[in-house]
Amino acid sequence: MRTGYQVRREMRAETGRLRRRARRAELTRRRAQEARAEAEERFRLLTETTGEAFYRLRFETMTYDYLSTGIVRLTGYSPEEVNRLSFASLVKAITAPAAGELSRQGLVEKRRRGQAGEFHADYLIVTKDGREKWLADHSFPWLDSRGRLLGSVGILTDITVRKRLEERLRQLATTDHLTGLHNRRYFLDLTQKEMARFNRYGLPFCLLVMDIDHFKNVNDTYGHLVGDRVLKDIASLCQGRLRANDFMGRMGGEEFAVVLVDSDLKQGVLAGQRLRALVESHVLRQAGQEVRVTISVGATQATAQDDLTSLLKRADEALYLAKNKGRNQVEAAEQA
Ligand code: GH3
Ligand code: MG
Ligand code: MG
Repeated sequence: MRTGYQVRREMRAETGRLRRRARRAELTRRRAQEARAEAEERFRLLTETTGEAFYRLRFETMTYDYLSTGIVRLTGYSPEEVNRLSFASLVKAITAPAAGELSRQGLVEKRRRGQAGEFHADYLIVTKDGREKWLADHSFPWLDSRGRLLGSVGILTDITVRKRLEERLRQLATTDHLTGLHNRRYFLDLTQKEMARFNRYGLPFCLLVMDIDHFKNVNDTYGHLVGDRVLKDIASLCQGRLRANDFMGRMGGEEFAVVLVDSDLKQGVLAGQRLRALVESHVLRQAGQEVRVTISVGATQATAQDDLTSLLKRADEALYLAKNKGRNQVEAAEQA
């Protein structure tokens, strides 16, 4: 038989246990809350203060069900606006490592088939205030707990500076600095491609090599700077007369070359004569003096037996002939 005293003591002990348990539960709850707030704060810092935008794209609706506020810095549009307009409508151009992944729809299909893991593409977009920007998109499949594909999760990064630098480097590597024409190496690359096209589809093309006559005299008489002006003038004069798909390069010194696409030798020679006449009639007025030059031209048509070397050699031989015959004229090469 317990005394009243014992009962009261047991009740106090039980109340104490309950209170301690409640305190522990409260502490655990508060710690979880703090941890969640801490995680949210870290996430907020990550997504709101970096230059990138994080997203989760749901394939079912093709909308972003999460798009971090970084998208405002990248595009000028809020996440809601991007969904309303659709991201694709901001994109002007897109590059991807693999063809077939070029469209988002293509990627969706690939991911549905379980083929695409990581995906990467660069987009040229137009921002809300009308500027062009390059964004890199790096994404991964978004799967549910049973491994079913729900969409993509990814990061958009501003790579405009890198792209501009790449473009500048590409330009420096392919352009002749004085005339702005293709440099020798790039011109030959393009000519090689034209040969491949000719071999595959049989589209005829002509190569013209052009050399300014007695150019040394121009330098000796008027000075090197005037010589440079002449080179620039001849380059833009001739370039301006070419059709959109023809191309011209500076092969070195005062020598140029032109590829005339979709042209046989007869058409090539005619084009060469037009360029020759154009240069002859051009007058460069420089410091009260009139400078005139002429060019000699060698023309040849590509054949199925040609490689780059044989093609150039034949055009050079024709040029040599034009020089020997008195300059300011066009010579066609004997076909191989
Ligand atoms: P030809 O009719 O036989 O072609 O005679 P040419 O005097 O034009 O030929 P040559 O090869 O003897 O001389 C070419 C000259 O071109 C010599 C060189 O000083 C000049 N030259 C080469 N590159 C440049 C350049 O970038 N600027 C200037 N101003 N002159 C250049
Ligand atoms: Mg010359
Ligand atoms: Mg020369």
